[in-house]
Amino acid sequence: MTDPTKPRPAELHFATRAVHAGTAPDPATGARAQPIYFTNGFVFESNEQAADIFAMRATGFSYSRGSNPTVAALERRVASLESAKAAVAVASGQSAMLLVLMTLMRSGDAYVASSRLFGGSLGLMRRLEGRYDLVPQFTRGLTPEDFEAAITDKTRAVVCESIVNPCGTVIDLEGVAAVAHKHGLPLIVDNTLASPALIRPIEHGADIVVHSTSKFLSGSGTVIGGIVCDGGRFDWKGTGRYNLINEPWPDYDGLVVSERFPETAFAVACRLFGLRDLGPGLSPMNAFLTLTGTETLPLRMERHCANARAVAAFLKDHPKVAWVSYPSLPGQPGEAMANRYSPMGAGSIFTVGFKGGEAAAQKFITGLNLISHLVNIGEIKSLAIHPATTTHRQLPAADKEAARVGPDTVRLSIGLESVEDLIADVAQSLDALA
Ligand SMILES: *Cc1c(COP(=O)(O)O)cnc(C)c1O
Repeated sequence: MTDPTKPRPAELHFATRAVHAGTAPDPATGARAQPIYFTNGFVFESNEQAADIFAMRATGFSYSRGSNPTVAALERRVASLESAKAAVAVASGQSAMLLVLMTLMRSGDAYVASSRLFGGSLGLMRRLEGRYDLVPQFTRGLTPEDFEAAITDKTRAVVCESIVNPCGTVIDLEGVAAVAHKHGLPLIVDNTLASPALIRPIEHGADIVVHSTSKFLSGSGTVIGGIVCDGGRFDWKGTGRYNLINEPWPDYDGLVVSERFPETAFAVACRLFGLRDLGPGLSPMNAFLTLTGTETLPLRMERHCANARAVAAFLKDHPKVAWVSYPSLPGQPGEAMANRYSPMGAGSIFTVGFKGGEAAAQKFITGLNLISHLVNIGEIKSLAIHPATTTHRQLPAADKEAARVGPDTVRLSIGLESVEDLIADVAQSLDALA
């Protein structure tokens, strides 16, 4: 029987890994679906085993804050899909980004961050700067040159999104990775809007990938979760920085993570500090629901992209629409980058600007019948929101224009309904505008 603790061989194709990686029939009962292990603690076999697990001399389950078999299955599944060496599942996408920044840096350190990020990431970064002196160095634009220009000798990491929320711009990951590595820095990519079905950043040079699994990975808009994936290639030791990875932990008998776990050093440090100390673990129930979602991810992403492309094309040609930002449409800015990194389509989240300004944007949202007015993205149901007054309200006005979330803008997240019905819903709401 396949050993469930080993990821399935990497030569299996993506859709097969989406269904099988990291899980196997339950050895105790034969259950084919991943069992949900609702238990906080796990009985030790001996005093020696308990001591060994606590000192990190042996692997094994002890307490579900740090690891749980159902959560571990999700970690193996997503690590396989992202071509990562290991993954750490956490309670939300927010906590995934928090744990990465906190594990890599201490106060006084800085990191280069894309100027265009999910609003929650921008809020977190501002608060971490004000309260803990972790300094974001925001780029001017989104090219590799813009990222390089922001690097100083205090920089300890580079952070970007693969597909930018909400404008859909696809970043030149290989270019940004080359810049980061030239300066001895790890590249962290938030891959939420692409999902590993569209873009696998580690295959393009990224070192760490984070997700809000609340979106495409779980898929149905039912559970909040996040995950951190470790590509396992970054030479942490060579830098001499990153004290949680390269310096002895006194409370683990002088454990040096990069020596004991050279292939998964970041994931181990992130689990020790992020889960054992800080504590935002994922519930086994949410891990189970997310794992079930990953099984249909490749199929769903095909339809998400096809539907988004059709709705975006319809909107772009409509006389009441000023512009659409979906780079997979012909003639859009960033089209070449989108086709290079995500030939199937730049996901299913995009923005649209209305000639009638804010009033038209707001009325368009309330006039929709099928498409729900809500703040999530990347789920099976189609969704709409006015970013300038909600998700991106904290941005200064100039930044809102730059991020294409001005007052005239609506963000759409296109789901899996029949595309004729989606276009009909959009059309009837447009008809009702002045
Ligand atoms: C939603 C989102 C997050 C935050 O994830 P939560 O699961 O809501 O905490 C982070 N990054 C991106 C790009 C997102 O869309």
